[in-house]
Amino acid sequence: MSGRILNGNQIRDQILAEVAAEVAELTTQGVRPGLAAVLVGENPASQVYVRNKMRASEKVGIASRTLTPSAEITTDELLAIVDDLNRDDEVDGILVQLPLPDQVDSAKVLLAIDPAKDVDGFHPVNMGALATGAPKLVPCTPAGLIEMLDRGGVEISGKNAVVLGRSNIVGKPAALLLLGRNATVTICHSRTKDLAAKAREADILVAALGRPAMITRDFIQPGAVVLDVGINRVTDPAEAERLFSYKPKKLARFHEKGSALVGDVNPADMEELASAYTPVPGGVGPLTIAMLMKNTLTAARARRG
Ligand code: NDP
Repeated sequence: MSGRILNGNQIRDQILAEVAAEVAELTTQGVRPGLAAVLVGENPASQVYVRNKMRASEKVGIASRTLTPSAEITTDELLAIVDDLNRDDEVDGILVQLPLPDQVDSAKVLLAIDPAKDVDGFHPVNMGALATGAPKLVPCTPAGLIEMLDRGGVEISGKNAVVLGRSNIVGKPAALLLLGRNATVTICHSRTKDLAAKAREADILVAALGRPAMITRDFIQPGAVVLDVGINRVTDPAEAERLFSYKPKKLARFHEKGSALVGDVNPADMEELASAYTPVPGGVGPLTIAMLMKNTLTAARARRG
């Protein structure tokens, strides 16, 4: 048996097309949604993330701007930038790319973002809204998981959902969203006893651990839907042989490039046992930026009608 692929690239394109149509409509009414990114310093990974977000904004017609203060910025200087963006009526969404330099108090900066413009959904006001069952701006990766299930035709209500990982960015909000959709939710973490047995109870299994291919066949109930959030880079040839020997093309690409991506779930086991699953890459990852665009649109509608 081989499970059905939940194709993140396809679903991302659908969502972006829908957002683009709505942005065009709003823009003809005189409201052009705007997104501002604050990219501190010159961290190459952050530069790539922000560039991709800004490219997506341009593609859907959202006005985007990137502020690039130097890595020496102080907390107060960064707070002043956030304050300006909070006051700027043309900015609907503010994202401060993490990580921030050590001298900056990241929590203080994130708290300063106007919750109505918090398109990452990390502000306690937005987390609180989610926890009390009245979500407003929801963290993008977990929101993408729900889109994936809905658009992939997977019923959530009444299912056993097991979320592996309890971070504020992925695991916890994913669990709250699934609960809001009437799944019976179990959240697991590093102190959970007999993780495999808990995971095997899942009809919907979400893996957000940051542990390359840790989730093997003993963790997967045959027929479960598996959403693999993990993005891990494999560079060890022996590990690549072990993980990808069943996929000669992927293994050949690994040998060319010297690295390959793997999720938190062993891909061969997932493909064999799950009824539907998200591949890595090309599963959950692409939806994160699409949901950021959707959040920016939501914020623009809420703020400016
Ligand atoms: P964190 O490191 O913040 O959280 C990991 C969670 O997994 C923690 O709750 C931790 O438990 C738990 N955990 C770690 N190891 C084990 C273990 N051996 N057994 C049980 N539980 C364990 O990671 P994130 O949530 O930020 O990210 C998770 C993964 O998702 C990463 O691979 C990341 O790259 C990826 N990611 C992908 C995104 C996308 O697709 N766009 C976006 C964000 C993340 P405890 O709390 O007890 O320490």
